[in-house]
Amino acid sequence: KVEANILLLGAGNVGKSALTVRFLTRRFIGEYGDIESIYSHCDKIDGRDICFNIWDSLCHQNGEESGYISDRQLQWADGYILVYSICDRASFNVVKHQVQCIRKAKQKLASSAQIIIVGNKRDLQHRRAVSSEEGRLLALSADCGFFEVSAAETYHGVLVVFHELFELIREAKAL
Ligand code: GDP
Repeated sequence: KVEANILLLGAGNVGKSALTVRFLTRRFIGEYGDIESIYSHCDKIDGRDICFNIWDSLCHQNGEESGYISDRQLQWADGYILVYSICDRASFNVVKHQVQCIRKAKQKLASSAQIIIVGNKRDLQHRRAVSSEEGRLLALSADCGFFEVSAAETYHGVLVVFHELFELIREAKAL
C-alpha cells in the first residue's frame, strides 16, 4: 500500500474545502465550516492501493496575506495543491508567494515534494480576474502542474488533479 500526504494551501474562500469534499464524497455541498482536518482516503489507481492523507489547511491560522506555511506542513507534505480562485487576483498572488516558499523549503529539506497549481471556480467566467495563460505561465516557470477546475460543477476535473499529483509523487519517489 502506498501513502501520499497531500497539503491544500491557498488564500481563504478559494475553494480548498470544496475541492477536498468533492474528491472525498463526489459532492458539492456549497457551505463548508472552518475546520482544519486531515482526511484519509484509500483508492485503487491502476490496480494499486493508494491512501491519500489530505490536509485541508486553514489559511487564517497561517496568516492569509503572507501565505505563510509552517515547517511542520513543509515536512509533512509529499505533494501540494496550491489553490486560487480565478475571480480573485489577491489569491493568485498568495499562490505565487507559496510556490516560492515551497521551492526554497524543498532545497533546504532535499525534498522531492511535487506541486500542482489549481485555478478554481472556472464556472464563474464572467467574474474572471486571472487569465488561464497567467496560471499556466506561473506553473511553467516553477515546474508545477496546472489545472483550472470548478469544484462546483464537476467531480472529474477534481479527480484528475489528485490523480495527476499522485503520479508526480510516484515518479519523484520512484514508488
Ligand atoms: P476555502 O476557504 O478555500 O476552504 O473555501 P471553501 O471551500 O469554503 O469555499 C468558499 C466559497 O466558495 C463557498 O461558498 C463555496 O461554495 C464556494 N466555491 C467553492 N468552489 C467553487 C467553485 O468551483 N465555483 C463556485 N461558483 N463557487 C465555489
